[in-house]
Amino acid sequence: MRGRFAPSPTGWLHLGNVRSALLGWLAVRAQGGQFLLRIEDLDGARCRPEYTQGIIDDLRFLGLDWDGEVLHQSRRKAVYDAAVARLLDDGAAYPCACSRADVLRAAGAPHVGEEGPRYPGTCATPGVVLPPGKPTSVRFRAKAGPTSFVDELLGPQGHDVAAEVGDFVIRRADGVASYQLAVVVDDAAQGITQVVRGEDLTTSTPRQLQLFDALGWAAPSFAHVPLLLGTDGHRLAKRQGSLTVASLRARGATGPELVGLLAGWSGLSQGAPCTPAELVSGFTWASVRREPTVVDAAELDRRWP
Ligand code: GLU
Repeated sequence: MRGRFAPSPTGWLHLGNVRSALLGWLAVRAQGGQFLLRIEDLDGARCRPEYTQGIIDDLRFLGLDWDGEVLHQSRRKAVYDAAVARLLDDGAAYPCACSRADVLRAAGAPHVGEEGPRYPGTCATPGVVLPPGKPTSVRFRAKAGPTSFVDELLGPQGHDVAAEVGDFVIRRADGVASYQLAVVVDDAAQGITQVVRGEDLTTSTPRQLQLFDALGWAAPSFAHVPLLLGTDGHRLAKRQGSLTVASLRARGATGPELVGLLAGWSGLSQGAPCTPAELVSGFTWASVRREPTVVDAAELDRRWP
């Protein structure tokens, strides 16, 4: 049993992030398994070293430890390129010269979801000739039909990747691996058997399952943790400023107090201060609350002004 926490150092960890980390840690520690830390710092423009240090400091502060070296995605370009080359060789992926504006235009943009329009397959058209010299991205040929999985927390899930997002980018035109590709290559390389992360990534999982399959690797199981909502019903992560671990720490919150809060929200305790180790015995996914948690930020501000 091997789990991991894989944050992107694009900001300070907030309570939603560390709740996923705590649950992922408990799930593997309850089985005597290993827990790994991976820094997803592929996006050079948005990642900052002080956020990476912040992640490490916050996890230590909360009492969440990890096994072995920290893996940094920014140092693994050759590994991602090798996986992309394999998929290209197998015909499971193809180069694409479309810019974002081209995709919008070609799609007629009738359906622009959070992730943009479905890719209409322009560069996969037989006989298409890519403009010479133009940097190309690489897209994975999405498999038709639903790709389903049973989430440890949310139950049966599924999406029709081909119908919803179409062929998706696995390497950007600037040569950087996409999140979808890098996460699959690394989960396989690190031998991860269970992925625990925020519910906002549930729709990515079918894409990742298709990549595991195309690369011939066993996929892990998945548990997507419900998001924290503000009292207005909106995602708390969007207004995270005062709800970062760093801010709460600076205002005097202790590690056990925060762990107790997260455990209470997850239905694992009444919320009394505790260490992660004290929650290990008897942890099962069945005991974790599946409903989104409504957090009263004003109450936290009163508790730690
Ligand atoms: N790096 C991603 C994030 O911070 C999470 C990736 C994952 O857990 O699969 O949102």
